[in-house]
Parts: sequence; C-alpha cells; structure tokens
Amino acid sequence: MGNKQTIFTEEQLDNYQDCTFFNKKDILKWGNRGSEGFGHSSRVTQAVHSLAPGPSCLSCTHSDCCVCFLQENPFKERIVAAFSEDGEGNLTFNDFVDMFSVLCESAPRELKANYAFKIYDFNTDNFICKEDLELTLARLTKSELDEEEVVLVCDKVIEEADLDGDGKLGFADFEDMIAKAPDFLSTFHIRI
Ligand code: MG
Repeated sequence: MGNKQTIFTEEQLDNYQDCTFFNKKDILKWGNRGSEGFGHSSRVTQAVHSLAPGPSCLSCTHSDCCVCFLQENPFKERIVAAFSEDGEGNLTFNDFVDMFSVLCESAPRELKANYAFKIYDFNTDNFICKEDLELTLARLTKSELDEEEVVLVCDKVIEEADLDGDGKLGFADFEDMIAKAPDFLSTFHIRI
C-alpha cells in the first residue's frame, strides 16, 4: 500500500490538486495508472519532480498513452493531438496531466466543450464544417452509414446548430449545441 503512495510527496499532491481538477485520491489513482501508461515508474517520478515550474522533461508518443488509456476510443488520436502542445500528438508529461484533468468528472463543462471542439475540428480551421462532421460521424458509427446517410445527418446537424447561417459551426454554435445535449458531460470523461 505504502510504496504506491511514494510516487508523490505531500507537496506534489498539493500542487497537483491546485493545478488540476483532481482531488488527492484521484491523483494517487491516476499516478499509479500513469506509471503503467508510461511504462517505467522511475520515469514518471523523474517527470513529477520536474513538473513545476518550467518545461517538463518527459514526452511520449500518442501510441504509448493510447494503448493504456484510450485504446477503445475512436477519437484517441484526435484527443491526444488536442492536448499536445505541438498539436501533433506528442504529449509532454504536463500535457498528459492536463488531458486527464480535463477528462475527469469534475472539470468544468466549458473547458470540456473547448477541448471537444478541438477534437472534432479535424482540419484545425477553428470551425466544425461538414468535412469535420463526416469524419466525426464515420468514427462514431464505425463507417456503417452509406454516403447518402452521412450527407443527410451532417446537413441536419448544420441546419439545426448553425445559428449564424455560415454553413459551418463556430465555437458559439457548438457550445449551444452541446448545452442541449444533457449527456455530453457524462460522456466526455474517463474514469480513473
Ligand atoms: Mg474545421
């Protein structure tokens, strides 16, 4: 029992609690899972020591993390890309902490909406257009819809959510759409 908790000092636990939406219990759970995710607890410990302030020393490729935490998620590459500082899915240790903080249950809805928008904005033009929706839909339905059905659904989403009539969804449109989806918060989190 004791050796799992030695991953963090009391001060580090306090720092994590201040900088994230985790409570101490979550942090301890997350830390132990994180050790598995990065493969070597000594590397995690090293990274924890270098965590604040300043740049972290540890990076991992998205495949390293996805294998352990996001394996079943059809948006795993997009999620990791959205949280990586370089936008290409190379997570620093701090990115990794941010990702789990935002995905935890107690993170604010607005912050979750921000990252959800980034995840669905495949072409990174700050709008969710039909092309983004098609890619989203393909992942959600495992490409089970035919082309006509995809066009129909995407048109319907744009028609209902595009409040300013520019044919694509800006963040305000997206946020409004999310606000009408009561299960959004419950789906945009992972259990740690
Ligand atoms: Mg876009």
